Amino acid sequence: MMTIDNYNFAGKKAIVRVDFNVPLDENGKITDDTRIRGALPTLKKILADGGALIIMSHMGKPKGKVNPKFSLKQIVDAVSEKLGVAVKFAPDCAKAADAAAALKPGEALLLENLRFYPEEEGKPVGIDKEDPGYKDAAAAMKASQKEFAKTLASYADYYVNDAFGTAHRRHASTAVIADYFDADYKMLGYLMEKEVKAVDNVLSNIKHPFTAIMGGSKVSTKIGIIENLMDKVDNLILCGGMTYTFAKAQGGKIGKSICEDDKQQLALDIIAKAKAKGVNLVLGTDCVAADAFANDAHTQVVPANNIPDGWEGLDAGPETQKAFADAIKGAKTILWNGPAGVFEFDNFTAGSRAIAEAIAEATKNGAFSLIGGGDSVACINKFGMADQVSYISTGGGALLEAIEGKVLPGIAAIKG
Ligand code: AMP
Repeated sequence: MMTIDNYNFAGKKAIVRVDFNVPLDENGKITDDTRIRGALPTLKKILADGGALIIMSHMGKPKGKVNPKFSLKQIVDAVSEKLGVAVKFAPDCAKAADAAAALKPGEALLLENLRFYPEEEGKPVGIDKEDPGYKDAAAAMKASQKEFAKTLASYADYYVNDAFGTAHRRHASTAVIADYFDADYKMLGYLMEKEVKAVDNVLSNIKHPFTAIMGGSKVSTKIGIIENLMDKVDNLILCGGMTYTFAKAQGGKIGKSICEDDKQQLALDIIAKAKAKGVNLVLGTDCVAADAFANDAHTQVVPANNIPDGWEGLDAGPETQKAFADAIKGAKTILWNGPAGVFEFDNFTAGSRAIAEAIAEATKNGAFSLIGGGDSVACINKFGMADQVSYISTGGGALLEAIEGKVLPGIAAIKG
């Protein structure tokens, strides 16, 4: 397989799939440019070689329709500034052949949002899965997805995938397009290579003790990874909103805390499995309860299994923070996905901050720490601690699937 480092793009055109799905404020201003910065090494390498760049990405969920709210035109200036060249813009990604052909060495073209075309995701629109015509519609869409991918492929000599965030999807630009390039004409970008290596560090090169911290609002979205990790970790910290399902399942009183009632048995199964496998499962014992879902709500620290009626747990309590830190500080491998509280509210960040600080300390002592998933990354950035951990992944779902042990279609399309 080609690696981007051992190729010189001089005089060639490369179409690069990046993940420029950056958050924008109501004025279309980028609020976090991490993803753009992540792709720069690959883009700059191609330009520095004297190659021409065709950059493609999705933004948001326009569901196969043109929607100015999700136009990549909004980020052209920011990309130009970061890349150091005036990036041209193709307002229709499927009709950019002339613009691509006109590119000179060292020039760059950004294509409009790929997801303005339903072919990108390859799912039929406007027809229900139960509908008798669905099967035919799905087959027709698969065929037009191939055509769409072929059109994108026709713009360039080389295909580079540097979009780890969408590597778990078999979309036109992330996987199907690779079929139109010979093995020596497609490769992973630097960011992808880094991501793959980071995942490998927590899956294959595990140094023990291994502590995984899984947080966030729902246990249902994390169950695959929790089960996979159970065979690998020494300590498993579960935190955030998902833990109230555990507290309730064990007979606790959780007030109006977030809870997935139908996942209580699942919670009990996880507890039993951890016990059977000798995994130290760390669940909160106290929490910061609030009388409203608001930053300025009244609060009190209460046992996590005895929350008064009308109150809800929004952060980990001090005793819990200490237990989390104790399970993290001595670790040699650390994975963190999902916050320990509603960190978006400044008054409910203490649990997540305690985790971040313990991770920083362990990292200083030689641990490999991988932080992934939009919210934990936002947490680390909010605390200004991004430089105190080993690796911050740009992938949310892709990272979780990779750690679950699944083969990611975006990577398989290139590596075979
Ligand atoms: P997820 O998308 O499942 O990774 O969850 C991330 C979200 O969980 C963040 O927006 C947090 O605000 C939210 N969250 C964390 N802890 C709680 C909690 N105790 N109650 C409600 N939401 C929470």
